Amino acid sequence: MSTEETVDEVPCCGSHDEAQGTIQHDLAPQPLIVEEEVNNGEKKAKIAVVGCSHGEMDAIYETMALIEEKKGYKFDLLICCGDYQAVRNHGDLPHMSIPPKYRSLQTFYKYYSGEKKAPVLTLFIGGNHEASGFLCELPNGGWVAPNIFYMGFANCIQFAGLRIAGLSGIYSHGDVEFSHYERPAFAERDVKSAYHVRNVDMFRLRQLKAANNDKLSNPIDIMLSHDWPGGIPDFGDSAWLFKKKDLFEADHKSGKLGNPALMKLIYDCRPRYYLAAHLHIKFAALVPHKGSGSERPQPTRFLSLDKPIPGRQFMQALEINVASDAKMELSYDPEWLAILKNTDLLTTADKTKIVLPDRIGSVPCVYDRKDFRPTAEEMEEITKLGDLTIKTDTFKHTAPPLKEDTSEAKNVPPSAYYHNPQSAEFCQWLGIKDLNYLLVEKSSDYVGIPFYMMPDSGETEFKSNQDEVDFGEDDFIIDRGHGSEEPEAKKSRLEEEKKEEEEDRESEDVVALE
Ligand code: 5GP
Ligand code: MN
Repeated sequence: MSTEETVDEVPCCGSHDEAQGTIQHDLAPQPLIVEEEVNNGEKKAKIAVVGCSHGEMDAIYETMALIEEKKGYKFDLLICCGDYQAVRNHGDLPHMSIPPKYRSLQTFYKYYSGEKKAPVLTLFIGGNHEASGFLCELPNGGWVAPNIFYMGFANCIQFAGLRIAGLSGIYSHGDVEFSHYERPAFAERDVKSAYHVRNVDMFRLRQLKAANNDKLSNPIDIMLSHDWPGGIPDFGDSAWLFKKKDLFEADHKSGKLGNPALMKLIYDCRPRYYLAAHLHIKFAALVPHKGSGSERPQPTRFLSLDKPIPGRQFMQALEINVASDAKMELSYDPEWLAILKNTDLLTTADKTKIVLPDRIGSVPCVYDRKDFRPTAEEMEEITKLGDLTIKTDTFKHTAPPLKEDTSEAKNVPPSAYYHNPQSAEFCQWLGIKDLNYLLVEKSSDYVGIPFYMMPDSGETEFKSNQDEVDFGEDDFIIDRGHGSEEPEAKKSRLEEEKKEEEEDRESEDVVALE
């Protein structure tokens, strides 16, 4: 293991002092990931990692502030490994797969509304408890609030020159071959399938593997998924793990624990770090790669963290060497952009099983090409895009932000689906299909006018005549079934009409009695 980098364990949520006494100290996997701290004078990116977030943004940032005080430095980045719960308002809650009694707004909405600002650049992937209607506005990722970036269904981006790849969702065998066809209003089961990982995304990620003659590099620095790669317990102290969580052993043995396709991704992309969550326990493992002696790539250091509740190990500080001129900001990864272009033919909003180009089996391959790793010419095309820094000012409110969590605020119908201007801009810039727009086009039902375009949002210049509103080249489809109203507006109008009818009836009764 290299001594260039340091990792520092943070035992629990610092905002709960009483939790200190409950820390478990029998963490057998620890030595696999803890390195000696080396002050070699090089520049380091200071990254805080959390397992599941469960909407606890306030507690997470408070914990980070405590660590910063203790260590005397500021974090450059926070990485959250799913179950993030980017809930904008009460209308997003029905789009989150969670029993109604556990539905809670949590704290993200304040960061969405602008009441609070994320104190550190925050990056996250989706898990199995998400505001899925919101996240499927951003299939290729984007800002969900100022300073908070969602990776999309799958992505590879760079931070300070570190290549960070991520896959959102969890594995479910029955849905893995499908396209991403789900959007609000979700048919009942679609709320679940919406967060199930897809082969098409894992296929795209596999294209990040090194050139065939490159047996030594680690092409990816950090890889993220919410659930674990199936088989990972074998590379750590599985006896310790199975003692802690007794059902895991049986599930592991029957191949049901985690995503069975992710070990292949680890071997293909050889990430230096692999970060995960979902199983609500801290666990570390070390996956070696092929080679002999020093002639082999660095092993993949796997770390999964817990959820942010008192006494649980949910946060870890990583310090990773970066170039002395590295900027602590996000940028698109040129190879990933080329992969997205190369695999654009696999993007569809129709509910269909996608036959992959590298599929081996009885289905005849319909593609001329199997390997979608970019050629030199394809990479050359990407250089023409110019500066790949991800702009930080492109966030716009699509669903209405919630200013105050009042009892009326709870009484809203499920959120509409919106064409997100960030998806439109990114896809137009790169020259790929806009899945968000394809999904909008499927039906005008439950498609809303984004909040930033509303006259009183103060976020854009409003033109008084709705028919003349220029929605840009892509145009927005608006639910005009009952005029050009939002579903929310539609509901309150219908309620008003019903009330008026009732009042009319009541006054008729009074007349009759008289
Ligand atoms: P979530 O917070 O996503 O609803 O649930 C995660 C919980 O489910 C954790 O307690 C985790 O241990 C458990 N879990 C998730 N996947 C598996 C699995 O494949 N086998 C077992 N036994 N438990 C699992
Ligand atoms: Mn989960």
